[in-house]
Amino acid sequence: MSELEILKYPNRQLTKPCPPVINIDGRLQGQIDQMFKTLYVSQGLGLAAPQVGCLQSFFIYDLGLQEKKTSHAHERIVVLNPEIVEMEGEEIADEGCLSIPGYFEKINRAYRVLMKGLDREGKEIRIEAEGLTARLFQHEIDHLKGVLMLSHLSRLKRDMFLRKFKKQKKQAALK
Ligand SMILES: [Zn+2]
Repeated sequence: MSELEILKYPNRQLTKPCPPVINIDGRLQGQIDQMFKTLYVSQGLGLAAPQVGCLQSFFIYDLGLQEKKTSHAHERIVVLNPEIVEMEGEEIADEGCLSIPGYFEKINRAYRVLMKGLDREGKEIRIEAEGLTARLFQHEIDHLKGVLMLSHLSRLKRDMFLRKFKKQKKQAALK
């Protein structure tokens, strides 16, 4: 089983909203397994289906990859058709994205959320989370709506990002 290619900004696939998962079948399970492999290779915490070109509303995560910082054990979690049903508080913290490699910026997110969805077998799940995990849920669910973390930046910071991005692209083209 090989890993999948992670689409990078400004790939337009990343700005398309994803329809809900309808068929929970072998093909979906294979896609999920490949996504976990991709997540481990890239050392991210979470990965949304559209980031690997699969336009379906689900994401995966494993906070075990943050072992040194938290007490989470390795746990492969899949959430199909996720939806945030409650949120409260605010927290500004650094955020990054596998589709925007090397870029980290402070983003304001709700501090605590309650998310509902389905697990990989189609069973209903509800997960309450705060801090980093709540941030991850909001980030991944944004991906499923075709929204990148750049949308949460102030205009000034977004302009700075775009300038830096264009410059890097130009330099890469010269090589
Ligand atoms: Zn991301």
